[in-house]
Amino acid sequence: MKKQNHKYVFVIGGVMSGVGKGIATSSIGRILEAKGFNVNPIKIDPYLNVDAGTMNPTEHGEVFVLNSGLETDQDMGNYERFMEKDLTPEDYMTSGMVYKTVIDRERSLGYGGKFVEAIPHITNEIKERIVRSAKVNKSDISLIEIGGTVGDYQNILFIEAARTLKIRNPHDVFFILVSYLPVPSKLGEMKTRPTQNAVHQLNSYGVQPDMIIARSHIPLDQKRKQKIAIWCSISEENVISAPDVDSVYDVPVNFEKDKIGEIILKNLGLTAPKKGDVLKDWKKFVAKTKNGTSTLNIAVVGKYFDTGDFFLSDAYISVIEAVKFSAYWQNAKANLTWINSKDFETGKLKIEALEAYDGIIVPGGFGSSGIEGVIETIRFAREKGIPYFGLCYGMQLAVVEFARNVVGLKDANTTEINPKTKYPVIDIMSDQKVLLANGNYGGSMRLGSYPAHLKKGTVAMKAYGKAKISERHRHRYEVNPEFITQIEEQGLVFSGMSPSGKLMEIAELPESVHPFFLGTQFHPEFLARPLSPHPLFSAFITACLKTKK
Ligand code: GLN
Repeated sequence: MKKQNHKYVFVIGGVMSGVGKGIATSSIGRILEAKGFNVNPIKIDPYLNVDAGTMNPTEHGEVFVLNSGLETDQDMGNYERFMEKDLTPEDYMTSGMVYKTVIDRERSLGYGGKFVEAIPHITNEIKERIVRSAKVNKSDISLIEIGGTVGDYQNILFIEAARTLKIRNPHDVFFILVSYLPVPSKLGEMKTRPTQNAVHQLNSYGVQPDMIIARSHIPLDQKRKQKIAIWCSISEENVISAPDVDSVYDVPVNFEKDKIGEIILKNLGLTAPKKGDVLKDWKKFVAKTKNGTSTLNIAVVGKYFDTGDFFLSDAYISVIEAVKFSAYWQNAKANLTWINSKDFETGKLKIEALEAYDGIIVPGGFGSSGIEGVIETIRFAREKGIPYFGLCYGMQLAVVEFARNVVGLKDANTTEINPKTKYPVIDIMSDQKVLLANGNYGGSMRLGSYPAHLKKGTVAMKAYGKAKISERHRHRYEVNPEFITQIEEQGLVFSGMSPSGKLMEIAELPESVHPFFLGTQFHPEFLARPLSPHPLFSAFITACLKTKK
């Protein structure tokens, strides 16, 4: 068989942000992979930050960490979950990254004395990165999501790079516009004009979409489909109806009903190696999302939960999905309640309110706000035997709580909160001290995948069913080795350690003492996948089901 040219599918948003471009891209990725292609998704973020690591989650949503340690956009998490594969650092790009490379190259005379300009130097760098990502991943198809919306200033150079790629390879590049069709309540009619305007804007950049995914809260009717086709110069078949759904995991199935995969492949001159019901496994999972027989009420206690008058659970999207996956496979539904730990400090909420929950999670976080409320939460979970799962900060603060209330180290703390504490049970890692003293904050935490060894007979080892694991990290502080013996003597077990034995990766109470009390220095949520839920989240859910009132 003749080797096919590499193919590029670009996904761009029209009309407004937040209409599910990331989920649409992830779903297309799932479908094309299921049809037998190696697809590498790429997320382009137009901001000038070099990576997502320095952004506040209330501004930006979750920072998703790759195996490599690159701190990226939460959409990368969607791609990994929908496509069930680990992404590489080449699969992520920001304007900051692109500009930095070009400017650094200019400073080292890499352009041989020429003018360095946005076009062609920035656009060439963008294309080089796209091509490199395809090579590193040995993919057949690159699936590239350009962040922002058509009409933004920030993403114009990315669209221009995509345009020139299409000019050079007209049969190998496919453009998808994910647009929004409002149905104003007073009119009760779906309006296509904003989408037409988005297409005209895109046309003014020299780009004609090959497909329009029409997002709306209701399905597209034939009349609207025809209208879009005529006014946006596109075949009716290539206008895809994408109404709101109960669960984002329905989207690949709905897209396939509209033969989206087949249409894209046909336009790119490809035939699928795999035929038949390629989403069979996925559908089994989707059925699980609908069949839950019991509901678990789980409290997530921490911060970053609100922005102005709005509530932002996006900051913990991977945690939410990880909990849901494990619940689904145990025929349960997880109902998450977000509790601001500050409310326990101000008295707005009584700690006893936590009694109503089947399980408690304290996710990752930074800084001092709401910390005493979190520590009280952990004490309550420990004393009342409520399943407790701490993720990163949630593990560190569990150690602080145990040191204070069981070991008797009064006012023990992490030096992140109180650098002068008499009992610094959680302390900054020594290499981190130097970095921070030099103001080196970006991409400098202990980041990405590290191996850990588990102790026999522990809750962790039982959950994983193996002794050697590898998990993703994002932290600067660690359990202070000076306190380990003292803490372990009182019954907290460090059941997972770095291979050197120096870094404590998991802390837990034995099953005989507590139904589930476990914290991880790493972020297990980044490895939870729909069809293979994470073993620790699953063990937590099992404990919640067992102790459920
Ligand atoms: N703030 C803690 C640290 O830096 C925990 C980080 C986290 O929860 N991701 O070590």
